Amino acid sequence: MSSAVVTRFAPSPTGYLHIGGARTALFNWLYARHTGGKMLLRIEDTDRERSTKGAIDAILDGLTWLGLDWDGDVVFQFARAERHRAVAEELLAAGRAYHCYATAEELTQMRETARAEGRAPRYDGRWRDRDPSEAPAGVKPVIRLRAPTEGETVVEDAVQGRVTWANKDLDDLVLLRSDGTPTYMLAVVVDDHDMGVTQVIRGDDHLTNAARQSQIFSALGWDVPRMAHIPLIHGADGAKLSKRHGALGVEAYRDLGYLPAALRNYLVRLGWSHGDQEVFSTEEMIAAFDLGAVGRSAARFDFAKLANL
Ligand code: GLU
Repeated sequence: MSSAVVTRFAPSPTGYLHIGGARTALFNWLYARHTGGKMLLRIEDTDRERSTKGAIDAILDGLTWLGLDWDGDVVFQFARAERHRAVAEELLAAGRAYHCYATAEELTQMRETARAEGRAPRYDGRWRDRDPSEAPAGVKPVIRLRAPTEGETVVEDAVQGRVTWANKDLDDLVLLRSDGTPTYMLAVVVDDHDMGVTQVIRGDDHLTNAARQSQIFSALGWDVPRMAHIPLIHGADGAKLSKRHGALGVEAYRDLGYLPAALRNYLVRLGWSHGDQEVFSTEEMIAAFDLGAVGRSAARFDFAKLANL
């Protein structure tokens, strides 16, 4: 029996709710509402230097103005750091992770060798099977996942299709830094699991992270949520969307007098289509929304078109 759908929107509060984030939130919301499931909201505030209260408020206000309500309380990722640490320790105790004492110089050396050989940098696994008693004095270890070295990691993605990575190309990623703080990769996996997320919908800049995260899920014996990586939004000129395309925070559209329904209608069509229908009521959007109809090529944001709405 398939369980109820749980999606989540997981913004990092480092700025306003921009067009791309609003579209990701909308797709999560529509999918949850379409399936009679839930959409949860998680604020990924683990980057303490870049996360601000102002950005959190802007995101919550932007979602509320757009009419994208979430279920349950907002989850703040930083507040869960203790749980993330405990999971890293569990993996360590189970032998699925290990202490790595590689020094900064050694890591720099690995990066330089990779650059000289024209390949992506890769941790070489030197502490996978070494005894911590051999640790150099004064080096605080990180905890790394003991990732599979053979075979493939496969992500079945509702938008991208089946995507595979050779495990030999994925190194043993860091789960816990030497100062005891969890990495983003670990935090996302633990939170998605604990929140009961069944469907991840996010930008395709996170696709490689999906392979990494899927390895962590497997090491923990947890089900990997279904994935949907949606193409990023580009400007009308084809370049990656930026402020010069007029892509402001959602509140700027509110202040310019746009109606939330008009912006929702514009956003839903950035990457999703339903025949040649152009205007949707909220009910129609919810009824018709389908991840299978999200295209794989970058959506184009055209401020001039939006301005004419
Ligand atoms: N916090 C990430 C971001 O804002 C999203 C992470 C995710 O959806 O898994 O890009």
